[in-house]
Amino acid sequence: SGEDLSELRKLARQSYLSRREETKLLVLKQEVIEYNNDIKDYGWSNLSKREQDDYEYKKEILDIVLQRRDLSDQIYNQLNFNYELPKDYFTEDNKIDKKRKKDLLNVRKSQGRGEPNDQSSFQTWESNQRKSMLVTSGNMKLEENFEDPTSLNLPGSENYEFVFDDSQNINFVNSDEKLSIVDELSEIRDEKHEETRLKDEERRAKKKSIEETKKSLPVYKYKQDIIDAIKKYQILIFVGETGSGKTTQLPQYLYEAGLCNNFDNDDTTTYKKIAITQPRRVAATSVATRVAEEMGFKLGNEVGYTIRFDDKSSEKTLIKYVTDGMLLREFLIDPEMKSYSAIIIDEAHERTISTDILLGLLKDIVKINKDLKVIISSATVNSKKFSDFFGNVPIFNVPGRRYPVDIFYTEQPESNYLFASVTTIFQIHLSQDTPGDILVFLTGQEEIEAIEEILKDTCAKLGNKIKPLIIAPIYSNLPIELQTKIFEPTPQGSRKVVLATNIAETSITIDGIKYVIDPGFVKEKVFNPTTGMESLVVVPCSQASAQQRAGRAGRVGPGKCFRLYTKWSFKNELPKQPTPEILRSNLSGIILMLLSLGIYDILNFEFLDKPSNDLLIKSLELLYALGAMNEAGELTKLGKVMSEFPLDPMFSKVLITGNRKNCLSEILSIVSMLTESGSLFYVPKNNKEMAQKAKENFNNRYKDHGDHFMYLEVWNQWVDNGYSYQWCKDNFIQHKTLNRIRNVRNQLERLCGKNELFIQESSNSSLNRKPSDDDDDNDDSFKKLILNVKISIASGFFPNTSKLTKSGTSYRNLKKQQEVFIHPSSSLFKKKPPVKLLIYNELVLTTKEYMRNVLVIDDERILKDYASHYFNEEA
Ligand code: ADP
Ligand code: MG
Repeated sequence: SGEDLSELRKLARQSYLSRREETKLLVLKQEVIEYNNDIKDYGWSNLSKREQDDYEYKKEILDIVLQRRDLSDQIYNQLNFNYELPKDYFTEDNKIDKKRKKDLLNVRKSQGRGEPNDQSSFQTWESNQRKSMLVTSGNMKLEENFEDPTSLNLPGSENYEFVFDDSQNINFVNSDEKLSIVDELSEIRDEKHEETRLKDEERRAKKKSIEETKKSLPVYKYKQDIIDAIKKYQILIFVGETGSGKTTQLPQYLYEAGLCNNFDNDDTTTYKKIAITQPRRVAATSVATRVAEEMGFKLGNEVGYTIRFDDKSSEKTLIKYVTDGMLLREFLIDPEMKSYSAIIIDEAHERTISTDILLGLLKDIVKINKDLKVIISSATVNSKKFSDFFGNVPIFNVPGRRYPVDIFYTEQPESNYLFASVTTIFQIHLSQDTPGDILVFLTGQEEIEAIEEILKDTCAKLGNKIKPLIIAPIYSNLPIELQTKIFEPTPQGSRKVVLATNIAETSITIDGIKYVIDPGFVKEKVFNPTTGMESLVVVPCSQASAQQRAGRAGRVGPGKCFRLYTKWSFKNELPKQPTPEILRSNLSGIILMLLSLGIYDILNFEFLDKPSNDLLIKSLELLYALGAMNEAGELTKLGKVMSEFPLDPMFSKVLITGNRKNCLSEILSIVSMLTESGSLFYVPKNNKEMAQKAKENFNNRYKDHGDHFMYLEVWNQWVDNGYSYQWCKDNFIQHKTLNRIRNVRNQLERLCGKNELFIQESSNSSLNRKPSDDDDDNDDSFKKLILNVKISIASGFFPNTSKLTKSGTSYRNLKKQQEVFIHPSSSLFKKKPPVKLLIYNELVLTTKEYMRNVLVIDDERILKDYASHYFNEEA
């Protein structure tokens, strides 16, 4: 339409093109090509007036674009095409009579091209084009290297060497934009401040003493005011720049002020705890470790942490760092939070589901438990919302200190942000003096590991031609012992590169960062309430996140932030604020939790942002289908047991059925393996084939039953080999991952015991561990075990049942009719003949919806007991 065209025309003159806009132009090109063909076939004069105008207008737009000097070669080559038709095509003589036109039309039709101006072919082309754009723009999880599913390398990394000629450099444009400073005070950097800063830095080199560090933090000046305010108000919103000391200092202040002492009527002193919630596990553990050190306590005594599957707290613990999800679970035991004197909801701006629910619950509880102090702590200025939610409670704002940060954007959209990140790291490293560490924001462990490898390789090749580069990864699955690396001071003359997920945005502060590289993406869970499907997707991060990320560069001195996208993209393609998790997730786990707290009126729960009724109802439906809830919306006995596990309800159901079906031991192994399956196998670059073979070998025992059984076999073999490290090495398996899995399994087993689900003798007997031989009797029990394991998994995951389509490659979810594909990492990927019916564990959306971890359904009994009601009700 005319509006679209004038928009395109504007586009053509604009100096930055987003990926989406590039696609629009490519579609335009295709249309012009089709017009050219029509003109050749029918003659110019046979086009209607409207078509002629349309053609000329579109061609003109393309001309404008192609003449632009700043167009990237890539786009130029894609758009360039010989549009010029010989003049005689446009003359009057070149009229084609009606009959010939009809013939030509028939020819077109037989070629499947349809009428001129047929939009459908453009649309297919456009959508293909979009998909390929997504791939090249790196908006893809690395493991989906389609040629080689085991490869974890960057796509095409073999051809990617760093030679440091200028042509490879990325051109950045300085935007004249300084990160706006949040409050006036931070702008006042008087000489004295500058002086202390220099002194600070000197001292830092000599390893500042803990006491001095504490005193240098922005919150320190306000210590007494903070204590007074907390004593005065029951609820307080606390806002301060990242790194100002909220997380580490606040609990210590409260502790010192005697908030933990609780004087009972009979004059004996008892103690009450302080809880500080963290949305992320790594943050909880790393900060607890730090605070224990600052206070001179042994971690696990006075200062401890509790995260899922890992509890370092004790009777003695008074300051407890806890993930928001775990504190939520404590409501089950202590509904009024009587054992706490204060609860600090930290990182509230992150708006995780658990934080949101905690806020809703606390709002209610403070009315009953008048002794409980609640502090909502947040890094960003969006504190008004929290204040309003609790009824206009006071906001305590600690002026932050932050140095100016120069923001740079790329001139052109970068087609692959991982390459661009690596290039930028070396651009900085080679051109900027040390000290000055680099922080790169990536979307997940796979990306971090891939970049780590490239950096190491390149550094190894360059040897001592460059200054030493210390590579420090940080993501939530990183074992605690490896986390300390990011906090170690960088030795003189070298540079540290921290590769982080958005955990480094606000929850962890790393000193010494001067350069931030921000590709502008984040991995998010997305839930589609219409299909009821949840998947992990890499999406553009929000503008608010981008500003936070940039701010990390200005903590020790003026810094620079390199955004690997255009300024236009920042303004137009990045959403202003992130969407709270509660609006884009499957809420069945949380609802189960609320039900077991006796909160039945879910639709009227006080949410900070209320999820749509659609979403709530979808989640309730799932609980009902799982048998956790009855028709009246009440928790069933089964539901009660399910809520005891810190797992998704689907998994809890699997455990319970596993118990009934005499295969709890196997189910425990499988469920534990699934929690960490993403980082189980590793593929060394120079030994891909061996690694692939080793992985395939794990399919030998439980042939072709799917990934769940492959994991079971990995677990069993590891146990049989005495939890051996060498065995892991020989089989290309990450020992540390298996150790974590072992820990998870132990904890789940203990919880099963508590809930009277016991591992049956028979299930752990020799039956399933014996090599399958031709002993008939054994064979039968072996088959029975496989069937029972499958029934158990299906009892929780039946909504994920998918059936092969006629195409022979794609699947369709039985109930939701969405097209899905087997993930390349699966043992069933490209299996011949393809599996007809399967159940998947999760969906990952990249270029397509991929099913990760799939189980073969080859017997009607598998779905009969626990799922038939689900599929029948509509039939
Ligand atoms: P906020 O919560 O306001 O963002 P924090 O309390 O997390 O601030 O951090 C205060 C200071 O403590 C920061 O300067 C940070 O570098 C330091 N710090 C935090 N955790 C650690 C750690 N594990 N090791 C060393 N320093 C740390
Ligand atoms: Mg913090």
